[in-house]
Amino acid sequence: MSYPRLTRQMIEQVVGFFDIIASYYDSEAAVLLVWNRDTRQVELVVPKQVGTVGTSYYGNRYPLDLAYEIPPLAKHQMLIGDIHSHVDGPAYASWTDKADEAYRPGLHLVVGRIQQEPPEFYCAVTADGGRFEVKDLKLVMESYQERRRNEVPEEWIDQVSVEEWSLSKHHTSPETERKAAPGMPASSTFDDIAATRREAEDLPAAKTVAGLLTPGTLHHGGQENE
Ligand SMILES: [Zn+2]
Repeated sequence: MSYPRLTRQMIEQVVGFFDIIASYYDSEAAVLLVWNRDTRQVELVVPKQVGTVGTSYYGNRYPLDLAYEIPPLAKHQMLIGDIHSHVDGPAYASWTDKADEAYRPGLHLVVGRIQQEPPEFYCAVTADGGRFEVKDLKLVMESYQERRRNEVPEEWIDQVSVEEWSLSKHHTSPETERKAAPGMPASSTFDDIAATRREAEDLPAAKTVAGLLTPGTLHHGGQENE
């Protein structure tokens, strides 16, 4: 059996989905790859997900984080990988991505530079603690031609919600404060770390704390720097 490849339609639909979420929310998004043992085909599953988006001093919004849980799958379905968006950022595996992948054997595709056509793709496979970059994308997907925004199911878009995170709001309004940091207690610790993350992009520190505060949830850093 050869490794299941994503069909051209699938990858173009997924890029269409990432494009829509980027243009609506400036947020990352993710799709899970599932192997259906009955049909012997790859299926796409879009989990419920929450993107966190920040706003720069100049009013530009940028992706900070994406959190989702693996939904329960049917007996005939097997999780084989995931695809996630880096919005305008380059396609590569960030520190957070690598940390997440360590617990998730399979195929990991990253789509970056979403404004461009074609966008950037990055692919790695993890297995038993090892991690391999897949340079030849033909091994994992049919050739991409053009995104399919018109073929994105409404249900996919409905799975995505976005939380705005703003440093100034965070300080002035306790109500916004609670809303602004989903799953995070409104504490000065998070405040300090988030500020550090914004200024120094100290993602590993933020990731560690996020992981501790919301166990069982996967996080992808948005502005991912190594
Ligand atoms: Zn990532």
